[in-house]
Amino acid sequence: MKKYRKDFPILKRKINGKRLVYLDSAATSQKPIQVINAIANFYKTFNANIHRSIHTLGEEATKAYEEAREAVASFINAEHKEEVIFVRNTTEALNIAAFGLRNIVKGKLLLTEMEHHSNLLPWQQLAKLKHLELDFISFDKDGYLDEPEEKLKGASVLAITQASNVLGTINPIKKITEKAKEYGTIVVVDGAQSVPHMPVDVQKLGIDMLAFSAHKMLGPTGIGVLYAKKELLEKMEPVMFGSEMIKEVSFTEATWNELPYKFEYGTPHIAGAVGFKAAIDYLQEVGMRNVRKHDERITTYALKRLKNIVSIIGPKKAEDRSGLIAFTMGDIHPHDIATILNEEGIAIRSGHHCAMPLHRKLGIQASARASFYLYTIKEDVDALVEGLKKVREVFER
Ligand SMILES: *Cc1c(COP(=O)(O)O)cnc(C)c1O
Repeated sequence: MKKYRKDFPILKRKINGKRLVYLDSAATSQKPIQVINAIANFYKTFNANIHRSIHTLGEEATKAYEEAREAVASFINAEHKEEVIFVRNTTEALNIAAFGLRNIVKGKLLLTEMEHHSNLLPWQQLAKLKHLELDFISFDKDGYLDEPEEKLKGASVLAITQASNVLGTINPIKKITEKAKEYGTIVVVDGAQSVPHMPVDVQKLGIDMLAFSAHKMLGPTGIGVLYAKKELLEKMEPVMFGSEMIKEVSFTEATWNELPYKFEYGTPHIAGAVGFKAAIDYLQEVGMRNVRKHDERITTYALKRLKNIVSIIGPKKAEDRSGLIAFTMGDIHPHDIATILNEEGIAIRSGHHCAMPLHRKLGIQASARASFYLYTIKEDVDALVEGLKKVREVFER
C-alpha cells in the first residue's frame, strides 16, 4: 500500500546506488516513524523502571507498559489482559510455553514437519527431560498439512505454526483445534508469521497458547508475547526465576507473584513495550483485514511473475499462503542469488530459514525467500524479477 511508504524512513535508502527493495520482512519488518518516535519519546520524557517506584516517572512508565499489555490483549482478543506475558521474542515465548508445562505434559508431544527451529527445539528438549514421545504431522507435496486426527490420540500438546515461514502455508488452526479439544490436547500456536499479517482472534480460534514477536509486526526487536489462557497459566510453572516474579521470599523458599508477573522476571523491555504499542496502533489504523488483502494481492502478483523463472516452494494459491515465497533456481546456490540481488539493492533471505528438517524433507539444502508486508509494492516484485534474470545471465555466461 503505497501511501504508507512515506512513514518508513529506511525505504528512502540507497543500497549500492540503487533504490532499496526490501523483501525480507519475514525475518524482521521495517519500522514506521511513529514507532521510532514513541521509543525516543519514552527515553526523552518518562524513562524509569516500572512496578517499583512511587515517583512520577516510575508511575508514567508503569502506566505505559501496562497500556501496551492492554493493546496486545485487545489486538488478539484475549479475554483477560493478564493472559499477555511480555517476553523477548517468539523463541523465548515457546521455551516458556514448553518448560512451563513440564509438570502437565505426558505421553506424547505432537508437532508438524513445518515447524521453525524455535517451535521444535524446546519440545525436543522437553521430550528428553520428561521421557516423552515426539510425533509429527507431515505435509504433502504442495505444502498442505495432512489430517491430524490419527496422531492426536495420546498427545498432551500440539505445537503448530499458523503460517509457515518457508512454505508460506496458512494452517487451518480453528479446525485443527476443534479436533484437538476432543482429545484434551493443549494447542500451542507459533504466530510469528500470522499475527503480523492477518486478523488473529485467540478466542475464536479456541487455542491455549500463542507466541509472536513485535519486530515482525512493525515493532522493535527484543520484545514479544506469550499469550496463554488464564486457567492454564495458573497451572503452569515459571521457567525463569528472580526479581519481579515472586510474592514472598525466604533464604530457602519462594512463592510466585500473581499473573502475568509470575512469568515476567527482572526489568523488562519497557521502551520496547512502548514501541510495540505504537506498532499495534499503526496496524489497527491500517486494519488487519487490509494488511491481509494486500499480502494476498502482492503474493498473487509475485506467484504469477515468478513461476516461469524459479521453482516455487509451497501452495500454488495465494489465498492459502502468507506473504512470502521461498524458491530455488536449479543448481544456483541461494546465497549466490542473494548476493547478486544485493548488488541491485534487493534484500532477500537465503539459507535454511531456521527450518533444516523441513528443507531436508524437500530434498534441498537451502532456499531463497522473498517476503512482503504492507509497504511492499508491485515495483518491488518487478525489481526482483529483473534481478533474478541477471542472476540467470551471470550463471549462464
Ligand atoms: C521468526 C520466526 C520465529 C522466531 O522468531 P524470533 O523473533 O526470532 O524469536 C519462530 N517461528 C516462525 C514461524 C518465525 O517465522
